[in-house]
Amino acid sequence: MRSIHHFIGGKEVPGSSGRTADVFNPATGEIQAKVALASDSEVDAAVKNAAAAFPGWAATPPLTRARIMFKFKQLAEENTDRIVAMITAEHGKVLSDAKGEFTRGLEVIEFACAAPQLLKGEFCENVGTNVDSWSVRQPLGVVAGITPFNFPAMVPMWMFPMALVAGNCFILKPSERDPSVSNMVAALLKQAGLPDGVFNVVHGDKTAVDAILTHPGIEAVSFVGSTAIAEYIYTTGTAHGKRVQALGGAKNHMIVMPDADMDQATDALMGAGYGSAGERCMAISVAVAVGDKVGDTLIEKLAPRVRGMKVAPGTDPEAEMGPLVTKQHFEKVKGYVDQGVKEGAKLVVDGRTLKLQGYENGYFLGGCLFDQVTPAMKIYQEEIFGPVLSVVRVPDYASAVKLINDHEYGNGTAIFTRDGDAAREFASKIKVGMVGINVPIPVPMAFNSFGGWKRSLFGDHHMHGMEGIRFFTKLKTITARWPTGIRSGAEFVMPTMK
Ligand code: NAD
Repeated sequence: MRSIHHFIGGKEVPGSSGRTADVFNPATGEIQAKVALASDSEVDAAVKNAAAAFPGWAATPPLTRARIMFKFKQLAEENTDRIVAMITAEHGKVLSDAKGEFTRGLEVIEFACAAPQLLKGEFCENVGTNVDSWSVRQPLGVVAGITPFNFPAMVPMWMFPMALVAGNCFILKPSERDPSVSNMVAALLKQAGLPDGVFNVVHGDKTAVDAILTHPGIEAVSFVGSTAIAEYIYTTGTAHGKRVQALGGAKNHMIVMPDADMDQATDALMGAGYGSAGERCMAISVAVAVGDKVGDTLIEKLAPRVRGMKVAPGTDPEAEMGPLVTKQHFEKVKGYVDQGVKEGAKLVVDGRTLKLQGYENGYFLGGCLFDQVTPAMKIYQEEIFGPVLSVVRVPDYASAVKLINDHEYGNGTAIFTRDGDAAREFASKIKVGMVGINVPIPVPMAFNSFGGWKRSLFGDHHMHGMEGIRFFTKLKTITARWPTGIRSGAEFVMPTMK
C-alpha cells in the first residue's frame, strides 16, 4: 500500500503521530493509499523549518524568486500527464477536467513570475522640502494554506505562488481525501531550485488545522473549503492574531431571461451544473427561469441531455462526468435528492438508480434534475455539491434578483440574456462576488482576483491577482530627509507642509 508522507524541510518525512487516513479510488471504492495525519509536533517541525528558511528567502531578490517560478512552470508542464492522472485517481474527475484545473493553476504561476513588477512600491519625491517618501511591500513570514478536496492542484496554486514570490515561507495542509498532488508539487518546486523549508506540506485533519490556527509562528492563514469550517478558521485564526482569508461554500444561481438563446443557456447549464459532478464552488446549482415558458423550455431541453450524459470513470476518454469523491459524500448528495422528493420538488431526472457495470463499488451518481423547487426547500437553501440542478421558476427579473440577493451565499452568479440593459443592471446591483453575463462559470483569470461575498468569504482579501500580493505582504511607508545638515529646530506640533 502506497504511503503519503509529509514534505518538510525539502524532503519526505513519514508521519510520527501514528494516525493515518485511507485515500480511496472513487471510481472503484478501493483504498489506494494511506496518508499521514499530522499532530502538533509535525506542524511545529514544519513551522521551525519554514522559519529557519525565511530570512534567506525574504532577502532573495524578487527576480530570483520569479526565475524559480519560471522553472517550476516548465517542470510542471513536463509532468502534466503524471499530475493530471493523480488528480483523476484520487478525486475522480475526468482527465480533461483535471487538466483544465491544472492549467488554471499554472496561470497563477505565470502571474507570479511578474514578482519584481508586482512588488514594486510607490515613490513620491519631495513630499516636503528635501523630503522623499516611498512604500514597500514586505513578506509576512511563515504563512499557511488549508485547501479543499475539489481542486487538489488549482486551489493550492491560488495561494502558494503569490505567497512565495512575495518572500514568505509556506506550509500547505491539503485535503486528506486527495493529498498526493501536493507532494508532487513540492518535489517539483525543490527541483526548480526552491530552497529547502520554503515550501512544506503537512497532511492531516482537524488536529493539524487546529495546530496551524494556534501556532504562534504562523502569521497568516489562507483557507478554502465549506462555510462552517471557513467561519471557524476565520474566528479561531484571527483570535490568535493571524491575518486570515477564508473562502467558503456556495449556491450559484443562473438567471435565464425570456430573450436568452435557450440552446446556449442549456449548454451552459449542462457544463456548469454537472461538470466535475457538481463538485465546484462555482458550479451552477440553481437555474432561475424567468417565466413559466422559460421553465418549460429549459426542462424540455435539459432532461434528455441529463439522461444521456456519459457517466464513467474519469480515465474513460468519453466520460463527461466521473464519480463523487467519497462514499460519505455520495450518501450526503443522495440524501439531498431524497429530501427534495420528500419536500415536494419534481424530480424530472433521477440519477440515484445509476449502476455502472464493473464499477458497482464506485461512488457514481447520475445527473439529477429538479423542477418546481421553491426557496423554502432545503435543497434550495443548502449547498449540495453534487450533480443536482434545481429549476426555480419566478415571474419576473426583479424576483430573480431578490432571490439571489436574499440567499446567504454570494460566490458566483450568471445571467443569460440578449438585453444589455438588464445585464448591466444585474452586474451592478447583484450582491455576489463573481458575475457572468452569458458566461456560466465566471472564474476570474489569474491577474484578477477570486472571491465571493456574504457567507462565501470571511476576511477582506480575495485570492490571487493583486489581492493575493496584498494578502501576503505588509505595507511599509518610509519618509526620509536629505541632505543632512539642514536644521529647522525642534518642532512640537504635528508636521505639516509649510
Ligand atoms: P471542507 O471544509 O470539509 O475541508 C476543507 C479543509 O478543511 C480540508 O483541508 C479539511 O481537512 C479541513 N477540515 C475539514 N473539517 C475540519 C474541521 N472540522 N476543522 C478544521 N479543519 C477541517 O471542504 P471540502 O469538502 O474539502 O471542499 C468542498 C467545500 O469547499 C465546498 O463547500 C465548496 O463550496 C468549498 N469550496 C469553496 C471555494 C471557494 O473559492 N469559495 C473553492 C473550492 C471549494
